[in-house]
Amino acid sequence: MSGNQHTVWNRDVDRMAPPHLLKTLQELTGVDAATIRTFTLAHLAEQVDVDHHPNGSATWLLPLGVWHRKRLRHGVQFCPMCLGMDKRPYVRRSWRLAYYTECEHHRVLMMDRCPSCGEAFNYFRGELGDRNQIEAAGLNFCVGCGLDLWQTAQERFAWPDWQLTVATRTLQFMNDFGWATLDNRNFTPAHELLLVIRQVIRVLSSGSRAGQLYDAVAQSLWPEGYDVLSNRGGQYERRTVIERHRLFGMAVWLLMDWPGRFERAFRYAHIHRNSLTKDMKVVPAWYAEQCAKAWEW
Ligand SMILES: [Zn+2]
Ligand SMILES: [Zn+2]
Repeated sequence: MSGNQHTVWNRDVDRMAPPHLLKTLQELTGVDAATIRTFTLAHLAEQVDVDHHPNGSATWLLPLGVWHRKRLRHGVQFCPMCLGMDKRPYVRRSWRLAYYTECEHHRVLMMDRCPSCGEAFNYFRGELGDRNQIEAAGLNFCVGCGLDLWQTAQERFAWPDWQLTVATRTLQFMNDFGWATLDNRNFTPAHELLLVIRQVIRVLSSGSRAGQLYDAVAQSLWPEGYDVLSNRGGQYERRTVIERHRLFGMAVWLLMDWPGRFERAFRYAHIHRNSLTKDMKVVPAWYAEQCAKAWEW
């Protein structure tokens, strides 16, 4: 419908939201292009990251690794139960968010690949293997091996305390709002908090000495034993679902009971105060104020 001269599937079209495509959609639907843009990933990306640029690598968005019409990365997550319950299965925008690691409806961990053959969730390639096919199989079928993704075993994750469970869920599912809440604190806009969560994740997964924070937090949360990270210093968006889930929750835990828990953990792990704001382009005032006090801890 957009015409053959425009590429659609061989780029991250939802994130780029090209004006020509929005204009075509406006003509076809009667909804104005500016409104349609608010439904795109481009709009969501700008809400969660002040510094978002459509061509660079995006903070909080899973990379697709587009190569022709192939996806080299596992950049679209899915909830098997959502796919199974949908009258006509569809892909939610929030499934591209890196910290959206648990389905808000079914409380199961999201999946990012076929559990049988490992293929990425290439839902739009249902015609693969049959070029003449117009009406493709439902997008709940793996294009690699044909497995019905609805039938796969689901995994749940339990945090050791309910306060943390509530806090993480609240934040993970707040991707359509301009504000966020943690304990009794409100953050407007939401990235006032997301920026700091990001920084704390950076420290937690750091390859330098600052990475000791991970062990300090994990020991508090799981005194009986805990999983270590598969690699240190890696980018959050390139980690597995379970590691993203764990890191996000651990960062949230550190920011609860503010600022006592944060202070204690950093002191205990012997984190240098420079790590607190290192590489941050924007430091929200509430966080900057706390970091400035770090020498007193
Ligand atoms: Zn679901
Ligand atoms: Zn498969």
